[in-house]
Amino acid sequence: MAVLWLDDIRGDDLETVGGKAASLGEMTSAGLPVPPAFVVTADTYRSFIEATGIEDELFELVDIETEDSAALAEAADAAQELIRETPMPEELHEEILGAYGELGDDVPVAVRSSATAEDLPDASFAGQQETFLNVTGEELVDKVRECWASLFTQRALYYRQEQGFAEEVVDIAVVVQQMVDADKSGVMFTSHPSTGAPVVTIEAAWGLGEAVVSGAVTPDNYVVDRNTGDVQDKTVAEKKVMHVRDEESGETVEREVPADKQSEQVLSDAELEELRETGEMIEEYYGTPQDVEWAIYDDELYLLQSRPITTISEEAAESGVADGGAAAVQSDDEEIPVSGLGATPGRASGEAKIIYDLDQLDKIGEGDIIVAEMTTPDMVPAMKRAAGIVTDEGGTTSHAAIVSRELGVPAVVGAETATQQLEDGQYITIDGEKGSVEAGADETADHDAVEEVRPDTPVTPMTATRVKVNVSIPNAAERAAATGADGVGLLRIEHMILSLGKTPERYIEENGKEAYIDQIVDGVRSVADEFYPRPVRARTLDAPTDEFRQLEGGEDEPEEHNPMLGYRGIRRSLDRPEVFKYELEAFRKLYEMGYDNVEIMLPLVNDSEDVLQAKQLMEEAGIDTEKRSWGVMVETPAAALGIEEMAETGIDFASFGTNDLTQYTLAVDRNNENVADRYDAMHPSILELIGQTIETCREHDIETSICGQAGSENEMVRFLVNEGVTSISANIDAVRDVQHEVKRVEQRLLLDSVR
Ligand code: PEP
Ligand code: MG
Repeated sequence: MAVLWLDDIRGDDLETVGGKAASLGEMTSAGLPVPPAFVVTADTYRSFIEATGIEDELFELVDIETEDSAALAEAADAAQELIRETPMPEELHEEILGAYGELGDDVPVAVRSSATAEDLPDASFAGQQETFLNVTGEELVDKVRECWASLFTQRALYYRQEQGFAEEVVDIAVVVQQMVDADKSGVMFTSHPSTGAPVVTIEAAWGLGEAVVSGAVTPDNYVVDRNTGDVQDKTVAEKKVMHVRDEESGETVEREVPADKQSEQVLSDAELEELRETGEMIEEYYGTPQDVEWAIYDDELYLLQSRPITTISEEAAESGVADGGAAAVQSDDEEIPVSGLGATPGRASGEAKIIYDLDQLDKIGEGDIIVAEMTTPDMVPAMKRAAGIVTDEGGTTSHAAIVSRELGVPAVVGAETATQQLEDGQYITIDGEKGSVEAGADETADHDAVEEVRPDTPVTPMTATRVKVNVSIPNAAERAAATGADGVGLLRIEHMILSLGKTPERYIEENGKEAYIDQIVDGVRSVADEFYPRPVRARTLDAPTDEFRQLEGGEDEPEEHNPMLGYRGIRRSLDRPEVFKYELEAFRKLYEMGYDNVEIMLPLVNDSEDVLQAKQLMEEAGIDTEKRSWGVMVETPAAALGIEEMAETGIDFASFGTNDLTQYTLAVDRNNENVADRYDAMHPSILELIGQTIETCREHDIETSICGQAGSENEMVRFLVNEGVTSISANIDAVRDVQHEVKRVEQRLLLDSVR
């Protein structure tokens, strides 16, 4: 059977109909009013590729390395074309149109795809959200094939390879649902969307729901107490436009609402009551608060979609806050009580997409604004697509801040309640300099990340102190090199490793040591190539266990009360030489390949003992420590105070990691927004440690540098140049300013010396 009707769909069919259809089926069997629909099952897609004989060709076409963007684009085009061009076998064609005929004569339908995977029917997949509205007649068969083809968009292929899904196990079902030619429609939250209080919030407007969902109209807003049924709050808006189906073309068009209906209340008391009751049933059925799309046609209520509300904070839900009075949805001119720390300068406008779980990342489309508690390395592909980033947690040296800066994506961090206060889908404008978040769009908020940092004139200020750049994600290499910096002062390799989605141990177990070594070689090489012959200082792995815990294999990581003070950096590497050795082999390979511009930097060392142990392992891995340039990060007071002894180990350089040095000297967690105002890299105690270290290093002919965030701040730059630092490594967007500031200080020193 090529199709299944909603009435026939049961929980067990999840694998063959996908999550979306299964949910509609469940709603139907619960007696909820869902418009009639059938599903072209995943098995049908399977039999299509098998019966037509395209299966092998299809999987061969997409058997590529998705990191290779040209190959990716080619494979996606070819695979989609193959599906579109392959005629539907007669039998399937008949069955699909036969089912369609049962809905009535030429009934307009919505056609939506829903991907599934064996054993993982519920997995959400990026890029397979293809939807076609108002489809009629024979066109339906083409649209079904279009949905199948959407399984092979570039984004979908990339995502599946990143997530480790074999192409052969991924299937796709297609939902064909009768369109409701709504007289009125809108959305309903069955509980308060941020506090979880038992109030139903309903938005309603005339015509089709797209007008409400897309924000084309300001809808009426009703808040109904679920316990008493009282309408607590009611705002009747002026609804100037409505979306309706054009009789002629069948397309959805925007029309003016007749004058007498513009200010009329959309929902009657009876309808409000019916919605409240239905909302309660849905929530009871699913067991969690739901965000529901509904429509009323000819006095009949229909439910079009229901999904869990993801914006209710656990705390609020547990404490049972029952104020319920606050309106759920902010209109564009309302103030948003959210602000944080500016992390990456720039203004960005877009739809807020609230992310609670990594499997929601496919929600992020080009130009959206990610709103999350905190970002993680798995989010980098989504961060690249995003126009902006807002996080609840974190300071200016948090993951979100570091990565967004490199990508040139404006970001506000430490906004505390952003995930609760902002609405999913709401248009917002953020200012990554001021740290502000405003409602509504700002058309002028647009920028080009690479061009922005390219100097207007190719002449870089000549300075005796070298100015380098920090790189955390190899993808940012082009942007980093465009600054004209003297090299890379810090290349963090952990992002290359964390983005594999698995802990190093798990990755090696599943893919072998060579694959792991190659990942590191490829990542470092892409940056070393971009800068050659300028030096690239690559740092060995330094990620806290809480970041590893989120990856596959993370369950084997130690659970730590304070990961910042825990098993990270050189401590982990020395404790697990069997893994560290592969990192070092990657460096040896790079040297063999001729990348003599690569330098090795050891993170979080405390004393010469740490350094000597690491040196021994480097030598065992075949790295000539006499010939290669290698050194340490000075990130703990112990390292700064013990630099004299470390100087004897043979290091060539010491680089201040002020992000950590500040937190360890002041006992201020760098990611804790509650103490962010106490986080001060210019604190006299830190300057004292840095000043002394530079002096000792000069005596021993050891280069000094800085690669923490403070190296991008003018005040620190002035201090360091005066102290005689060898180089400064700044964030991509700060390189040009730092070059000028260094130049100014050097000239001042010269002038002072001759006067
Ligand atoms: C630092 O601590 O200053 C540093 C550059 O390292 P990370 O931010 O990766 O801890
Ligand atoms: Mg550090």
